[in-house]
Amino acid sequence: MAKKYVYFFGTGAAEGNMRMKDTLGGKGANLAEMAGIGLPVPPGFTISTEVCALYYKNRKRIPEVVRLEVEKNLKKLEKAAGRAFGDAKDPLLVSVRSGARASMPGMMDTILNLGLNDRTAAALVARTGNERFVFDCYRRFVQMYGDVVLGLRPVHKDDIDPFEEIIESKKRERGVRADADLTAADLEDLVARFKAAIKERTGHDFPDDPRRQLWGAIGAVFGSWMNERAIAYRKMYDIPEAWGTAVNVQLMVFGNMGADSGTGVAFTRDAATGENVFYGEYLMNAQGEDVVAGIRTPRPIAELRKDDPKAYAELERIRRELEKHYADMMDIEFTIERGKLYMLQCRVGKRTAFAAIRIAVDMVGEKLISEKEALSRIEPDQLNQLLRPVFDPAEKQAAVKAGRLLAKGLNAGPGAASGRIVFNSADAEAWARKGEKAILTRIETSPEDIRGMSAAEGILTARGGMTSHAALVARQMGRVCVAGCGDLVIDYGGRAMTVKGRELKEGDWVSIDGTTGEVIEGRIATKPSEVLQVLIERTLDPARAPVYRTFAKVMAWADKHRALGIRANADQPDQARNALAFGAEGIGLCRTEHMFFGEGKIGPMREMILADAAEERKAALAKLLPFQRRDFEGIFEVMAGRPVTIRTIDPPLHEFLPHEEKGQREIAADMGIPYEKVRERVESLHELNPMLGFRGCRLGIIYPEITEMQARAIFEAAATVKKKKRIPVLPEVMIPLVGHVKELRHQERIVRAAAEAVMKEQGVGFDYRVGTMIEVPRGAVTADEIATVAEFFSFGTNDLTQTTLGVSRDDAGRFLIPYVEKGIYAKDPFEVIDREGVGQLMRLAVERGRRTRPALKLGICGEHGGDPSSVEFCHLIGLDYVSCSPYRVPIARLAAARAAILNAPKPAAKKPAKAARTARKR
Ligand code: ADP
Ligand code: MG
Ligand code: MG
Repeated sequence: MAKKYVYFFGTGAAEGNMRMKDTLGGKGANLAEMAGIGLPVPPGFTISTEVCALYYKNRKRIPEVVRLEVEKNLKKLEKAAGRAFGDAKDPLLVSVRSGARASMPGMMDTILNLGLNDRTAAALVARTGNERFVFDCYRRFVQMYGDVVLGLRPVHKDDIDPFEEIIESKKRERGVRADADLTAADLEDLVARFKAAIKERTGHDFPDDPRRQLWGAIGAVFGSWMNERAIAYRKMYDIPEAWGTAVNVQLMVFGNMGADSGTGVAFTRDAATGENVFYGEYLMNAQGEDVVAGIRTPRPIAELRKDDPKAYAELERIRRELEKHYADMMDIEFTIERGKLYMLQCRVGKRTAFAAIRIAVDMVGEKLISEKEALSRIEPDQLNQLLRPVFDPAEKQAAVKAGRLLAKGLNAGPGAASGRIVFNSADAEAWARKGEKAILTRIETSPEDIRGMSAAEGILTARGGMTSHAALVARQMGRVCVAGCGDLVIDYGGRAMTVKGRELKEGDWVSIDGTTGEVIEGRIATKPSEVLQVLIERTLDPARAPVYRTFAKVMAWADKHRALGIRANADQPDQARNALAFGAEGIGLCRTEHMFFGEGKIGPMREMILADAAEERKAALAKLLPFQRRDFEGIFEVMAGRPVTIRTIDPPLHEFLPHEEKGQREIAADMGIPYEKVRERVESLHELNPMLGFRGCRLGIIYPEITEMQARAIFEAAATVKKKKRIPVLPEVMIPLVGHVKELRHQERIVRAAAEAVMKEQGVGFDYRVGTMIEVPRGAVTADEIATVAEFFSFGTNDLTQTTLGVSRDDAGRFLIPYVEKGIYAKDPFEVIDREGVGQLMRLAVERGRRTRPALKLGICGEHGGDPSSVEFCHLIGLDYVSCSPYRVPIARLAAARAAILNAPKPAAKKPAKAARTARKR
């Protein structure tokens, strides 16, 4: 059978369905699905994503087989519509719409009203008797076609659109302000002027033949797959270039036929808060993208109930049907043509982290989805948004009282941001690079602005609604956004804006509250989010914190479904307390060296390093011991019997001494020793390659008294906490940088001797473990030998990545980012575990270690422990726990649950066809 490249859809029947996103793109698959379940979808067909690749292979031409198939489907469409393409009596008009597999909002361009020329326009006037409508369509068509297919668009960042320029001058000539005040004759004249501009700038006539128009548009959609903004978007969201886009050709329905027609977009629930209310916007007598483009500010969907009760009721019915069918919050586009409702798009709706979590939780309550499904829908990184700051209420109130409230727009992207005004995306990027906080301030944003939006702290627009480009993209990126703030009068050229008479210039501070929509002059301090106020600050009662309560529910579900334990990296009691508040079950890494920098500690530490003989060193260490003991006591108390993994000293000693003469002289004076001696010692500690030098267990092997002191401090603290405070303890002493079992054996003896001695001295017993970090390849490869001594392994994936890749992280900046850009590594291996390299060593160490010691405890304590993909990998290789910074603990909990859910062995299905149908694609 010949390969199929084109798929037809029409009300009640479709060749495709929602599971065919790979082939039909998201838009095509969902149009087919909606048509298939009998929703009112204008008929059309989808050219598959495979053709996109063929188009590029075929030197940017559509292959002949595809052309033939398109022609066949066009016939079918003509039949379904009862009109003919290019017909002089009853012409068929279509839209040509792109649609990639993953939704790329606004990335690819849509052309409406295709098939119009002077002849078909005249025919349409004759049929509808509505000249204004026809020339409104014609004007839009030539403009869109001129922009998307023929490339007439602004070049410089301060430029305005060439077509808009013509419209503006027409309006000036006619002395009118709104587009709506232009007459049919004005619009007809605009068509002529647009065509003349196209001819002048491109040297070509505007194509009148509908078939040429169609092929040109189809080619342009495929061509736009490789335009700059599409490439930028793909890069940002990891969308493979190979996917390609589909093209949808669909019968036009018209929202611009008069007061009984309109168009709108909606979410089946509130995409900002997640509340279960119908949420959307519409415009009567408007077409296509008017609602999202921000040219006219649209009206809230609830008002449609009055404008057109019948269409509204049907929309409500479809809203519920879609939510049931997709079991998710949907984003829909619709058009009403003379009172009849048509569905033009639906897809799973983008939402803020707040909304994602709330909707998932609510839908479990509504029995639409299971707990597991809810968890798999919340991206772990989204939790970050819940932890983001809000304005300090007192400061904000003071600012408002002082008259600094400039205006109010729509609360399009929650959170609080203070920054300096910039008026275009290039500047936002440039300012962010300089370390400045920027608020990208635009009349409206467009897909070209994505990079600037990402670089900015917040986004502020003068036009556009809750579903405008700015709002959608901001929510997805987690940017604070206030949209549609109509009081802003922005002058791009002058790099300034006026707000109710007040002028603000580029670089001025402004504060925007994306939760309320307020725009405030000047800078306002921010304060912790609701979740942090409950958990960390303890200043807010959970009963008064709905966001926190939803968060807590998700966390409870995550804990129920995860297999991995979650610990935190914490060096001090307060950090340990935060870790517990975030749900950590132990400490996976307590670095002791940070303790040496504290008050009163650095002196004895330096004495220890400068000592000539073991005796002097011991004397200095004896001064350090009580400090260390006190720190450990605090941590053990907080952790109350949960495991606390403490790493013995790790960094090279030179890090504790100053490198410049002034500091060295001060130390010499303090300690009453000659400056020369300090200088010599610093010089002697100098290493060409400290990362591979005298550090880790090597220190404790050459200076066993250091390990001895540390072990003693740990165990004395444990004994005290257990005996005096009656709090259980579980210390785990971890020896770093072990590559040879004999290194570990050497250190283990010292540690165990200290433990036995302390227990005897204090007359108290406690459990403890001795283990090691696996962070050099030799350690991983000889894990079977090392496990004869180690009771646990903790993968130190920062060093393991450095030593496995032979890349020093501190020197990698110059080449590692380009490496990732060139795709040599898909992700920065210091952020996401390099599964094929470093990951294989981990897997090997797990296998060999467990072979020797089946009860071996396995964990990870590198930065990777809080990265969702790395957490998943740890789950897959069977670690017992991950450990990450306290603030990433919620993310790790959720990531661990998702890893367990998404990688669960599939239950044997009785009816494979049914199972495949209900399985969610991710
Ligand atoms: P995007 O991917 O940018 O959302 P779409 O292909 O959805 O682009 O087109 C944008 C808008 O154009 C739609 O929301 C819809 O209002 C309008 N549109 C597209 N196709 C048609 C059609 N066949 N009839 C009427 N309006 C259409
Ligand atoms: Mg678009
Ligand atoms: Mg759309």
